[in-house]
Amino acid sequence: MGHPMFTYDPGMGETIFEYCRTRLSLDPVPLDYGGIRDDPASQIEGIISENGNDPVKVLELFATQLATAVVSIDSPRFLAFIPNAPTKASLLFDMVVSCSSLNGTSFLESAGIVVAENQLLAFLAERAGMPPTSGGTFVSGGSLGNLSALAVARDDGRRNHPAADPRHLRVAISQEAHSSVGSALHLLGMDPLVVASRDHVMTADALRAALDADDDPASIVAVVATAGTTNAGIVDELEGIGQLTKDRGMWYHVDAAYGGAAMLGTTRRHLFAGLRHVDSFIVDPHKWLFAPLDCCALVYREPRLARVTHTQHASYLDVLHVPDNDGEVEWNPSDYAVHLSRRARGMSMWYSLAVHGTRLYAEAIDRAVSIAEEAAALIRAADHVELCRDPTLSIVLFRRIGWASSDYFTWSRRLLNDQVAMVTPSKWEGETVARFAFLHPDTSLAIVAEVLDSMR
Ligand SMILES: *Cc1c(COP(=O)(O)O)cnc(C)c1O
Repeated sequence: MGHPMFTYDPGMGETIFEYCRTRLSLDPVPLDYGGIRDDPASQIEGIISENGNDPVKVLELFATQLATAVVSIDSPRFLAFIPNAPTKASLLFDMVVSCSSLNGTSFLESAGIVVAENQLLAFLAERAGMPPTSGGTFVSGGSLGNLSALAVARDDGRRNHPAADPRHLRVAISQEAHSSVGSALHLLGMDPLVVASRDHVMTADALRAALDADDDPASIVAVVATAGTTNAGIVDELEGIGQLTKDRGMWYHVDAAYGGAAMLGTTRRHLFAGLRHVDSFIVDPHKWLFAPLDCCALVYREPRLARVTHTQHASYLDVLHVPDNDGEVEWNPSDYAVHLSRRARGMSMWYSLAVHGTRLYAEAIDRAVSIAEEAAALIRAADHVELCRDPTLSIVLFRRIGWASSDYFTWSRRLLNDQVAMVTPSKWEGETVARFAFLHPDTSLAIVAEVLDSMR
């Protein structure tokens, strides 16, 4: 007999597998309550103890007291923030990743993971119009993806812009850039040049005007465009901005964390053609590519530049970086972002995409766009609500005519309490408004109508 913590307990195994089987087959999953439930902390008091507890009892505590205080972001009724709607295949394979303790740090340890994750990255890069030599890794989310890419952009800027003060490099971003871009610049010691958007889109003309009007244009070494803003799903002028960054020798990063998936669909694909110009881009499989949390694909045009910035050196890591006979070092996912040890987090989507094929993915992605269009039509037809803007991708911003800001907050809480939907307020041009973010292909127009009716 081995140590008790390392011996398989079939009873505990069956209990857990049964829970997972049931959760996977719930249709629909209950929305549940998240933070609006009574504070669950008291329910688990004392559970961490010297002698432990019966595994069935602990799981039951989780199921009855904790899981109900977590909103199911995979519910077709979850329409807040950016939902997470993983396929069943990706969830099942995530169990394989967990049960096999799959590590994806280095080629030496995990060649089988590296080749599969790289196959998926190559697929995404190819759809973005990037060359076959591009590559990167999967990180925990868009925030870490943006940070990792902009660290490479900064180092590249220091090398290629000798006229600029290396301690005062700047990056042009739009007013609508995601909050994580601002955080990344702060962490990296760079300042933003905020480009005024035109109708919420960063255009090449607006960027050119901002650069030409600037006192110190040499200090601006990179541009971040957004392909699908989180609040409104707006796509910047990727093609024109790409041309401009090339002309001026600036690094071009596109944050496509949410919207990038649309390049795999059919109806909005054209908006992403300009991705072919990028030096780096991100897209989150845990958003509109139907993978479980947490997963962001980060791709560089020239991966060697990322290695210069991100490879960690230590005596015990040298073994990962021994060149082969051709002088090549194997591909280590750890060399391409701010991380070292990593879960093989690209594998859940890899399995699901390999099983289902690209056609079903395109269909599911297109479905979210069409639900947004159908919802917009319902809003146009109703007299108590109105659109703030026609949707570009799968996000719809709209107002309830006559409501004050506090009305939206009260209504949002009531909707969740009644288990109708999770829809949270946002802002549009300073005004509090309602916002639908569609991803789950099973979100029906009946659900949308139910939510709109609740605002009468
Ligand atoms: C969600 C999002 C991010 C941040 O991604 P996380 O995975 O939440 O870290 C960055 N940029 C955009 C445009 C996003 O929608």
